[in-house]
Amino acid sequence: MNLFFDTKLADRYTSFPQKIRVLTEDWVNRQVYCPNCGHLDIDKYGNNMPVADFFCSNCKEDYELKSKKDAVGTKIVDGAYRTMIDRLQSTNNPNFFLLNYDLINFSILNFFVIPKHFFVPEIIEERKPLAVTARRAGWKRTLFLREEKEIGAKGWLLDIMNCIEKLASNNFILDDVYAFKNVLSRKHPRNKHIKDKIRQQLQILRDKDYLQFLGSGKYMIT
Ligand SMILES: [Zn+2]
Repeated sequence: MNLFFDTKLADRYTSFPQKIRVLTEDWVNRQVYCPNCGHLDIDKYGNNMPVADFFCSNCKEDYELKSKKDAVGTKIVDGAYRTMIDRLQSTNNPNFFLLNYDLINFSILNFFVIPKHFFVPEIIEERKPLAVTARRAGWKRTLFLREEKEIGAKGWLLDIMNCIEKLASNNFILDDVYAFKNVLSRKHPRNKHIKDKIRQQLQILRDKDYLQFLGSGKYMIT
């Protein structure tokens, strides 16, 4: 994969934001395939299409590109918070491409894909995205999250998936997840039955084929 911008494209633009937009969009256009269906080419919407920046002609998924200088921070976007919240709560919300660039070498530092079904408001506000490149967070096997329209319920599922992700093992036991009880309590202070909630979420994840129950409090990531 070529990680450099085609800098001569920017020569005819004077404003810096315009230059960056042209360079990053060109890079995505050349280098990125559709993470939903694997189609080798994604297409750019015309400039006056406000829907999103890119789309896949094969599976019709939309992608919006967010570019930022230097390393990935803990927030996706600092300025456009309100707009993004509105965007992700709308029915036609896109998936996001997050790109970090380096202005010294005019190169790509990081590129993340965030499927729209991973979105809960705090991902924009404070939390690092659960990158689709994360070992167990594959695009296809997490599509069931799209069925969950209620943002709080989806937040719980993502919280438990994040805890499991932190265990960094395909096999774990219930106590491993209970170990996150305090973290989860701080995040959900009104829930007084965190352990019950954990078990309930694990059951949902099992029903969605994300996990298997092996019996005696043992679990396996499928
Ligand atoms: Zn596609």
